[in-house]
Amino acid sequence: MSKKTSVWCLSLLSLTAFFTPLLSQQQSVFEIAGISVGNGEKRSFALEVPRGLDEGTNIPITVVHGSDTGPVLLIVAGIHGYEYPPISALHSVQRELDPDQLAGTVILVHIANLPSFLARTIHINPIDGKNLNRVFPGDPNGTQSERIAHIITSLLVDRADYLVDMHGGDGNEALRPYVYWPVSGDSAFDQETRSMALAFGIDHIVVDPVATDGSPSRYTDHTAILRGIHAITTETGQLGNNETVWIDMATDGIWNLLRHLEMVPGQATIVEEVVWLENYFVIPSPSTGIFEATVRDGYLVSEGGLIGRLLDFFGNPTGEVRAPFSGVVNYVIGTPPINQGEPIAMLSRIR
Ligand SMILES: [Zn+2]
Repeated sequence: MSKKTSVWCLSLLSLTAFFTPLLSQQQSVFEIAGISVGNGEKRSFALEVPRGLDEGTNIPITVVHGSDTGPVLLIVAGIHGYEYPPISALHSVQRELDPDQLAGTVILVHIANLPSFLARTIHINPIDGKNLNRVFPGDPNGTQSERIAHIITSLLVDRADYLVDMHGGDGNEALRPYVYWPVSGDSAFDQETRSMALAFGIDHIVVDPVATDGSPSRYTDHTAILRGIHAITTETGQLGNNETVWIDMATDGIWNLLRHLEMVPGQATIVEEVVWLENYFVIPSPSTGIFEATVRDGYLVSEGGLIGRLLDFFGNPTGEVRAPFSGVVNYVIGTPPINQGEPIAMLSRIR
């Protein structure tokens, strides 16, 4: 669906959280879903996801339209509603970002998956049982997750020059912070995306090839890359907690990226000592029961090394999970329940 046809089916739920005075030097306005944000303005409102096959929902966003011209940066939090540090980081950025000090436009998606956030579900949207970060670019006629993805794609991603999709260790994931660098195969394009990944400031970067065979993009960042928009995915936080250290890491990453893109004043700090990772693999659980990890996030393991043990519901050992290759444990399940086929751990090779 084109942007134009998407706009009319949305309506405004709320607006006018924040206003700053219009500059006398008024330039263009930035418009989303019929809401106009003038130069030097900051406005918070909700995009409606209309009822369809199932119930509707909404997506709280803030648009900060700078006094100066510049790129459009879209930052998304809450695709997974149990991953809190990015959500808190965007609230901080929303309060601190001054449109009079901004060149370009920043769109903050505070909580993309509000039903998941409110129901405290890991991975999935409780309304349709789908993982929002597997259904992009979405479908206006699909279930709720697919409609959320469609609105994010058509109204926001298609307006952006740069995208950051922010995640963290979900409620059951012990995760060592890292950034995905999605690689398209176009080296000049990929180098600019790489510089975004470096500007976020986390020293583990996972090289993530984007499928260009016409199959569904599935992920938010891959959707952007396939549309010619530079995009990274960041992972800060773990086990569903919302400690200051993780919020600050996410917040600092955003501000440094804003400096790197020359959207706010100041010199960006580029991380230099990076562990480059590739060939990431998510180990599926061979059975349902209890999982006890024997490694932690960020550990190095050799091929064949023990990742953890499986138990039945009586506490009896039923199996072991071992590393398929030598590498870094990006995350490992840190709570007992496990279902057959669910991720046990993500492992990457050191490049
Ligand atoms: Zn996530």
